[in-house]
Amino acid sequence: MQKYLQENGIDDLKKKILCTKCGQEGNGLMGAVKIKCECCNIPMVQTRYGIREFAILYNESLEGVPEKVMDSMGISEREYQDMVCRRDPRIQDEVARIKGGNPYALFLKEQFPGNFNLTAFESRNAQIKQEKEQKQREIESQKLRCPRCGSTNIRGHRPWSAHSACNHCGYTWW
Ligand SMILES: [Zn+2]
Ligand SMILES: [Zn+2]
Repeated sequence: MQKYLQENGIDDLKKKILCTKCGQEGNGLMGAVKIKCECCNIPMVQTRYGIREFAILYNESLEGVPEKVMDSMGISEREYQDMVCRRDPRIQDEVARIKGGNPYALFLKEQFPGNFNLTAFESRNAQIKQEKEQKQREIESQKLRCPRCGSTNIRGHRPWSAHSACNHCGYTWW
């Protein structure tokens, strides 16, 4: 494994490893390192930056942006921080508007001008979003099962109804 990584130019897992085309990241510190990007089918690249360094670099690319966002949205710093914590999409939209595009995509483009590909970045993000939604649907569908027989054929499972009933086995529950 070690040898394989070295052959691919990856010798330091503390460095930021990613696909310079779409921005997919190697998960070096969490289990096996991905050395090939599944989206682009090209090897990932070890940057010369540490993971922290890379994050700092990205933050630097956003310098002055929070002030502009607060200004244009007419919110206080406290409100801004709250919205960032909640991952309020309005903040992301405003940042994208001010920067003229997805700020992380712009950052990657600046870092890897020859390789970065916005289409690949966007399609990867769309895929991530889809996977998240799929997971969410699975969680939802698990919730909507009869606790006795596990059937999904249930009725009344709505916030406004007092209880749920299973069409399959007739069990009712609150
Ligand atoms: Zn990729
Ligand atoms: Zn049942």
